[in-house]
Amino acid sequence: MASVSDAVATAPELVAQSFGGNTLERTLPARRDTDFLSKALPAARLLLVLGRGVCVRAQADASGAPKELASLSLEELEQLGIVPSSNGTGMRLNTGGASLPQPYLLGQDAASVLRLVLDASDAGDALAERLASAGLQVADLRALMPQLEATELAVAGHAVALSQWHVAHRFCGRCGAEQVPIEAGAKRQCTADPRHRVYPRTDPVAIMLVESAAGDAALLGRPRSLRGRGAVLTCLSGFIEQGEAIEEAVRREVAEEAGVPVGPVQILGSQPWPIGRGGGCELMIGCVAKAVADEIHTDQEEMEEVRWVSRANVLEAVAASAHPDNPYYGNSTGAPAEGGLDFFIPPPWAIAHHLIKAWASRPVPWFSSRL
Ligand SMILES: [Zn+2]
Repeated sequence: MASVSDAVATAPELVAQSFGGNTLERTLPARRDTDFLSKALPAARLLLVLGRGVCVRAQADASGAPKELASLSLEELEQLGIVPSSNGTGMRLNTGGASLPQPYLLGQDAASVLRLVLDASDAGDALAERLASAGLQVADLRALMPQLEATELAVAGHAVALSQWHVAHRFCGRCGAEQVPIEAGAKRQCTADPRHRVYPRTDPVAIMLVESAAGDAALLGRPRSLRGRGAVLTCLSGFIEQGEAIEEAVRREVAEEAGVPVGPVQILGSQPWPIGRGGGCELMIGCVAKAVADEIHTDQEEMEEVRWVSRANVLEAVAASAHPDNPYYGNSTGAPAEGGLDFFIPPPWAIAHHLIKAWASRPVPWFSSRL
């Protein structure tokens, strides 16, 4: 089998991906100080999250301008009825008494302001009216993808991922005792044995554009998990298993889902995906791969459909992906009305779009015919 270095493709750098490009400085050794949070709170800005919802400033008009994250001062939080709890680390509602976890550090911005996230999920009902009267609203992170500035979306994604990780790791996986956040939320530590620590988790996912043996078609599919989205096709993808290289995962996943044997694999870029399956934070690792034979044997359990799509039709699908009828926008489950295509591909907020576009924009096979 040819090595990856035999591939002739000079890989274009994939454009900045949604949820990437976080400009906050994360390396802050002072977070290890036990009184870091109490010192930081008075001058920090806090972002409220409720589940996968993020607090944004409500827009008075329909101008289509990007929404703005609500980065609140301690005073603004107090006006919402959220005050530091008496133990000095957590927060609570001043009426009703709902206790909230401690804030977690996201990083420091260019103006040296510390940005924190506060998970207010447990106060959702009590907060709703207060947020509305303060001109704030909670918006789903997925819906915010096309509505926030890129760097703010990255901060929002980190905030949701970190909060969801803390929620899912309340107890020690080794001994069952309670775990508590340490270092401003950068880790959790067991209350029975301090050697039992866990770190925020990211699950790697390989996502791949597979080109045909002749290099003139792309393998696209619709997993059963997208049932109900309508006529969509996208790149194949799957979790990377323990002890598996990215390239090996690509070959295994394509063989499992489509029965297509794959040779060389080239890694092009990656995208953080904080709205992953089961509340997890995934890292999508984007690849282009070369099929060594074209016959498809679809895994009917996992995939509704897998097919080869010609470069011309892929280019057409790229151009049509911004159409408002694209089911990925949540407005329609219809197929494209124009152009004769019977499917949509993901819009530009997904790395799949950029893999598909990068491949289709090259008028020749991605990999050398020597392979
Ligand atoms: Zn333990």
